[in-house]
Amino acid sequence: MTLVEPLYAEILRRNRGEHEFHQAVREVLETLDPVLERRPELVDARIIERLCEPERQLIFRVPWMDDSGDIHVNRGFRVEFSSVLGPYKGGLRFHPSVNLGIVKFLGFEQIFKNALTGMPIGGGKGGSDFDPKGRSDAEIMRFCQSFMTELHRHIGEYTDVPAGDIGVGGREIGYLFGQYRRITNRHESGVLTGKGVTWGGSQARTEATGYGCVLFTAEMLRSRGESLDGQTVAVSGSGNVAIYAIEKAQQLGATVVTCSDSDGYVVDEKGIDLDLLKEIKEVRRGRIAEYAERRGAHARFVPGTGVWDVRCDAALPCATQNELTEEDARTLVRNGVKAVAEGANMPTTPEAVRVFQEAAVAFAPGKAANAGGVATSALEMQQNASRDSWTFAYTEERLAQIMRHIHDSCYTTAERYGAPGNYVVGANIAGFEMVADAMLAQGLI
Ligand code: NDP
Repeated sequence: MTLVEPLYAEILRRNRGEHEFHQAVREVLETLDPVLERRPELVDARIIERLCEPERQLIFRVPWMDDSGDIHVNRGFRVEFSSVLGPYKGGLRFHPSVNLGIVKFLGFEQIFKNALTGMPIGGGKGGSDFDPKGRSDAEIMRFCQSFMTELHRHIGEYTDVPAGDIGVGGREIGYLFGQYRRITNRHESGVLTGKGVTWGGSQARTEATGYGCVLFTAEMLRSRGESLDGQTVAVSGSGNVAIYAIEKAQQLGATVVTCSDSDGYVVDEKGIDLDLLKEIKEVRRGRIAEYAERRGAHARFVPGTGVWDVRCDAALPCATQNELTEEDARTLVRNGVKAVAEGANMPTTPEAVRVFQEAAVAFAPGKAANAGGVATSALEMQQNASRDSWTFAYTEERLAQIMRHIHDSCYTTAERYGAPGNYVVGANIAGFEMVADAMLAQGLI
């Protein structure tokens, strides 16, 4: 990181206390020296300084009333990072941990991820420190309505197109879309993605991130002459990404033996019963401990964070940032893991990534492995623009093509820059070059 070291120091100084943002920037910058050495025009145009400063950052008050009539005040965020390739695109996260640094880390990652999909979408991210856990439907609706009452001024199908993330699924997108439609008096389908399929949503969008992550894993294994068939897979999380990662892994012949939530994890040696998991998590919005109780002797619930102690051939962290530590990585390597793909955003700490790379484990960073979600969001935007709706099979095939394209472009870029098999280098450089070239072409903005 020689060329970019002074730039990074300046980023630390100007964005104090935003640890996750620092981590995400560092992880990209430390791979870019070879590009900057070959292409001095990118240094002269100060592409990195410009890229690390969001085009716009919005922070706003979100007041709402709970079912007992008490008033709460949350903070809303939307960071519009880069629109050089298309309208800002990226999800909304509702979780008590949300702050500006987390939204900026997610928005920064999103720029490169969206570029990798090859679709015309820029990068942005948003959310709130609102905690949806334990809230009634009516409370969720009032919160979403209040959030959108401010956000609607800043978004639009050609401007900024939010979607879901942690704590924001189909229900929340429905309430957000309803309020946008009411305030603007426009049924502007392309303003949000992740909509219900009967009112402008895309088939396979719900499944896309998890499916895409597993398809990417299968591609990595294929490039090493292996497949997922017959392999044991460990998954963390039990939300949208985790559930559909489990589904696709099972379809490809793997046995998925774990999943988790913030209370602990379950181990099910016979393989996760997906119908039971969906019923608990998607229908009843329950806790993972209940899975073990209802599954009986096959499964056990273990409180805490030890999910990576379970032996597996492939590990798919699908919960949240920095959930897989150096120690976890050492355990996984000791247990013979062959592939790790990030379904979540930045779930693997930098030290853990190094452990995998030193052990020659195939490691896919989130900006490549979980790009299937946003890519299918872009497919949803295409369907909205042409007032069309595609079948599940067609949409899934488009997703599979996109994941193959992302895999191949990361793979060949890593080789071109002298780091064969290093998907972190491949993803960062391939995404960066697309964005940087567009920035050069569009002048000093
Ligand atoms: P959900 O809200 O559906 O699920 C999140 C899951 O992660 C839950 O099981 C949750 O458990 C668990 N989790 C969250 N925070 C923690 C924590 N601090 N410790 C342990 N477990 C935690 O979110 P998604 O599945 O949509 O998102 C998961 C990850 O994937 C995020 O990093 C997100 O940014 C990323 N992602 C999502 C995309 C999408 O299309 N949805 C697209 C690309 C990336 P609990 O219920 O206990 O909180």
